[in-house]
Amino acid sequence: MPNHAEYWNSTLETLDPSRTRDLQFLKFKRLLARSYENSRLYRRKYDAAGLTPADVRTWDDVAKVPLLTKDDYRCQGKDPFPYGDTLCVPLEDVTVFHQTSGTTGTPVYQPDTWADWEWWSECWATIMWAQGFRPSDRLFLPFGYNIFVAYWAGHYAAEKIGCEVVPGGVLGTRERLMKMKELAVTAFMATPTYVLGMAETARKDLGIDPREFGIQKILCAGEPGALVPSTKARMQEAWGCKVCDHVGATEVGAWSFECSHQPGGLHINEALFLVELLALDSDTPVTEPGVPGRIVITSLDRVAQPCIRFDTKDVSMWAADRCSCGRTWKILDKGVHGRVDHITKVKGVLFSPVTVEEVVRSFAELDGEFEVIVEKQGDLDSIRLRVETPPDLSAEGTAGLLTKLGSALRWKTQLNITIEPQPYGSLPRYEVKAKRFHDRRGK
Ligand SMILES: [Zn+2]
Repeated sequence: MPNHAEYWNSTLETLDPSRTRDLQFLKFKRLLARSYENSRLYRRKYDAAGLTPADVRTWDDVAKVPLLTKDDYRCQGKDPFPYGDTLCVPLEDVTVFHQTSGTTGTPVYQPDTWADWEWWSECWATIMWAQGFRPSDRLFLPFGYNIFVAYWAGHYAAEKIGCEVVPGGVLGTRERLMKMKELAVTAFMATPTYVLGMAETARKDLGIDPREFGIQKILCAGEPGALVPSTKARMQEAWGCKVCDHVGATEVGAWSFECSHQPGGLHINEALFLVELLALDSDTPVTEPGVPGRIVITSLDRVAQPCIRFDTKDVSMWAADRCSCGRTWKILDKGVHGRVDHITKVKGVLFSPVTVEEVVRSFAELDGEFEVIVEKQGDLDSIRLRVETPPDLSAEGTAGLLTKLGSALRWKTQLNITIEPQPYGSLPRYEVKAKRFHDRRGK
């Protein structure tokens, strides 16, 4: 029997996988029909492919439905302004605006109805409950509330669960930390970069060991770090508590999470999302565990701007085992491994910048920032790692540390990486998404 206290929705989270599949297919067909009827974008796409919703009769037919990409959102900016052909409801039904940051192209405008916003809260409530958030928690949100969707839904979901929310809005890092200490908050949410940055500020500016804050749990989002074992270990060690990951996207919703059992991957919320893996270089489905594939997501219940088979261009693989938490939802092993265009061949070897992060963060002394740069030198690709060295280490100690780092990198990546030491604190600090990987080869 499931332990009901463990789940936000015990029926859906422990549903037999075959019944989950039935539910997903029912919702998928409903969404397809509604979008074809009401969204000019989907009508145009499916007409061009010679597909109508009635053509999707079995699970195998789902693969016939054209993929949605970032390029499809280019029809925005026109009537009904600013959403254009992507809108699937009358404009007056839209109650909230957000947009993507545009790090991978033109920003996407994201409308939501009141019901969509309830849905966002429900997605996040599922995640937060699975990570152990309860009404007894006092939660601090060190997040600059603005046009980006990041953590907004976390705020509303926390209220829905019954946590006490402390909005840390426009405060600086130091002020946020002081308020957290003053109010004895029990939890907070931030990107892995900021979780480590806050620990650094607590130690260096306030002279307080982050463990003294008594934080019991941290929810991470926005970067893959919370599932990179060495980064996770470093955050948990710094704050003395569990750190769990969550992955979502503005266009898609909050579709996956790591539960408090920390299975080394992300559960998919299969009640609200359909997640498929497709081969890296074709649209062939990947069903075997351990084989990398592109993550393609359908948000089954979102109304204002539906997202059907969105090609996220993020890479992951299915886990072979289920989680000890008892959820029947599938797991993506090691979470998101990186983007298709970041997981690239360098000198014929498959290279992922996340591997570099894993190595750098496995050295306790290297707690500053780093950057990875791939570029052409003549006809050859070269990789440089710019890494901040510890401020109080002797020249000899630093040289020894960098030698060890070099051999660990060679061992893990099978590539020669040039290491360029940087003074501590000289590389950019990020509050939301870190931009540590730069591919300057041109394509
Ligand atoms: Zn689990």
